[in-house]
Amino acid sequence: MKIYNTLNNKKEEFVPIEKNKVRMYVCGPTVYNFFHIGNGRTFIVFDTIRRYFEYRGYEVKFVQNFTDIDDKMINKANAEGTTVKELGDRYIKEYYQDADSLNIERATVNPRATEYMAEIVNFVSELIEKGYAYEVDGDVYFSTKRFTKYGRLSGQNIEDLQAGARINVDERKQDPMDFAVWKSQKPGEPGWESPWGLGRPGWHIECSCMAKKILGDTIDIHAGGSDLVFPHHENEIAQSEALTGKPFANYWMHSAFVNVNNVKMSKSLNNFFTAREILDAYEADVIRFLMLSAHYRQQLNFSEELLESAKASVERIYNTIANLENLLDEVKLELTTEDEKVYLDSLNKHRDKYIERMDDDFNTADAITSIFDLIKDINTNISVTSSKEAITKALELIRELGGPLGMLQKSTKISLEDEIEQLVEQRQQARKNRDWALADKIRDELKERGIVLEDTPQGVRWKKL
Ligand code: AMP
Ligand code: ZN
Repeated sequence: MKIYNTLNNKKEEFVPIEKNKVRMYVCGPTVYNFFHIGNGRTFIVFDTIRRYFEYRGYEVKFVQNFTDIDDKMINKANAEGTTVKELGDRYIKEYYQDADSLNIERATVNPRATEYMAEIVNFVSELIEKGYAYEVDGDVYFSTKRFTKYGRLSGQNIEDLQAGARINVDERKQDPMDFAVWKSQKPGEPGWESPWGLGRPGWHIECSCMAKKILGDTIDIHAGGSDLVFPHHENEIAQSEALTGKPFANYWMHSAFVNVNNVKMSKSLNNFFTAREILDAYEADVIRFLMLSAHYRQQLNFSEELLESAKASVERIYNTIANLENLLDEVKLELTTEDEKVYLDSLNKHRDKYIERMDDDFNTADAITSIFDLIKDINTNISVTSSKEAITKALELIRELGGPLGMLQKSTKISLEDEIEQLVEQRQQARKNRDWALADKIRDELKERGIVLEDTPQGVRWKKL
């Protein structure tokens, strides 16, 4: 498998630290609000990459953090008259609701920064002991000059970075590029005990510390949106490698932005759509299809037209799934014939192509093309004269290739129970509209099928006679 490694700006063969295992850390959301569909892309992309590793037989330990203490958290909690803790609890719950709806698998661990305070304080203390950090009046800064590889990830040299940083000089720092690893408590802010007085961690140290604690000194993959390359990931590398003297992550992966009118979607620009809003109107399959129809390193300009076109594409695939599911009820032949065996073998070429494309830096856009090639092939070759076994195999292959993308797992058949619930709901709607004729018609239809309705104060109940 090949992965584009931001550290070296090229595609590299993936070699795990431990055979068949992947240790992966993805920078997660700051939990002060609902996440938007731009954040959603990053979560969907790395969820897909994780699923694909699993599909290829790797065991993945997948860590995605919650940033539950920073300026935005504090400001929002103060504005709402609540605590940072309560705000974090609330939006972590909302995160899970939306992530589950987007069919994003739960991480192996979702650490919260505030639950790692003792470890963070130790981390900072050790950096000071080693001479990589220094304290000024309760604040602790990382000394970038001491870390000679500073700037490697973002491909910048330290002189340019320093020139840029001089615009915003803070007299207390030894060097303009130095950044805070610990911040002293200000009025109206929560604080945690430390050798430097009450305070809170800087953002970058949280990830360095939690990744080390949960996954070890060196991890396979560290990932996030491309806005995190500098300074967040650059600073994480500096802190972690200064402390351990070992490489922090072997592969750095960054997914491109979701834009609106060619500008990055972001909370601060107020040009965002929440995942929840979009989920109200479109199914997870459609949203994932849209996000995965571009390569993850390509920017994606979000629009309603794109969503509509994704919806039409997903429907085309589900039409084939529906056709196969219906054929299963109709066909007589049970087992595959010799001709069919040859045909089924030939379907493997689509799987091979799909794997080749996904192995090439997770090219989901081309992998989707393989799924369409498979669909076309199935549409022309499977019919009412096919065997149940062949139809089942074709259906399984569609679902197999949809699996790593987190799509195409639904059945188009609705259960009898769901169908009855739907009819009951339609009847309620008809009654609300005073359309008594339609309401009675639905009741009679159900009666003919042996279902009787009972109107109770708690709502409509139904039972089978
Ligand atoms: P935040 O909650 O802003 O810290 O972001 C959470 C994750 O979403 C990070 O990995 C960001 O890099 C990523 N992200 C933020 N905005 C976008 C965007 N417009 N497109 C894609 N990813 C984004
Ligand atoms: Zn991070």
